Amino acid sequence: MIDLRSDTVTRPGAAMLQAMTAAEVGDDVWGDDPTVARLQAVTAERAGKQAGLFFPSGTQSNLAALMAHCERGDEYIVGQLAHTYRHEGGGAAVLGSIQPQPLEHADDGSLPLEKIAAAIKPADAHFARTRLLALENTFHGKVLPQDYVEAATRLARGRGLATHLDGARAFNAAVASGRTLEEICAPFDSVSLCFSKGLGAPVGSVLVGDAALLQRAHRWRKLLGGGMRQAGVLAAACLYALEHNVARLQQDHANAARLAQALAGIAPLQVTGQATNMVFLQIPPAHCAPLEAYLRQRGMLIQALPAARLVTHLDVGAADIDRFAAAVASYFAAES
Ligand SMILES: *Cc1c(COP(=O)(O)O)cnc(C)c1O
Repeated sequence: MIDLRSDTVTRPGAAMLQAMTAAEVGDDVWGDDPTVARLQAVTAERAGKQAGLFFPSGTQSNLAALMAHCERGDEYIVGQLAHTYRHEGGGAAVLGSIQPQPLEHADDGSLPLEKIAAAIKPADAHFARTRLLALENTFHGKVLPQDYVEAATRLARGRGLATHLDGARAFNAAVASGRTLEEICAPFDSVSLCFSKGLGAPVGSVLVGDAALLQRAHRWRKLLGGGMRQAGVLAAACLYALEHNVARLQQDHANAARLAQALAGIAPLQVTGQATNMVFLQIPPAHCAPLEAYLRQRGMLIQALPAARLVTHLDVGAADIDRFAAAVASYFAAES
């Protein structure tokens, strides 16, 4: 199977499963699980933050962070296409009574500084209290320019706002830019990091930040149903991923570049972009369903939308990329 639908589709390999089996565990709701404690400490240190908190999903980690930063009637500034705003069921509003203030992205994925500045509301009973700026890195595969991140968070801090990063793919951002995870996280008060994307763990995110913030997030995690018992089994997979699967993200990025190059030569496909482990392409609408079915018959999975996204990950090698591109070429050769 060559599954390019997402980097969430990876399966734990034998060595990761062995690490999970060998994990020392305890009841983490009681704070007794040594493997969870180690994952939290190691991740926090790597991100340059005081503390870490283990979550079952990035959605819950982001939500608990927003709820730790904002109270009922507060507002957070976020991108119109950001995951927290668009792909998490509106949780901040539904469960946090936090009003989102979405802003249009610039082409590079950033939120223009003047738009952020203009969106911050005055202290007046008419307005929600603007409390937080939330960014995402990588955003649609793109690494946010570091000088932009520093300027945006400086602006936010100067206006009394806290800052949160949805760093579901912050490891990709670090590897692609040659920066440390600490540098990527440094401008933010809190960062949510996913282990179930390119890092290849089956489950798990860690929220990092200062101890006081994480104490509030810990309370919200319990309320949201995220208190887990012998979670060391899962944390062990994340620790394994941290040790073995970070530097290799570079291969995913190289494979995505290889894929983009191969597909660019296949009319009538149009490759519209490639960044880190993602390739974006336009598929003529009439070809979407037949192409998807053709590939599926050959053990290859994509979500063939007119504006499609293909994602590389640790279960896809360079040879798989070549086989996949050859199958796509043979589909269009038969069609023409
Ligand atoms: C995957 C993802 C998340 C978290 O999603 P979960 O499936 O809940 O772990 C958050 N932000 C971004 C940008 C993501 O890609």
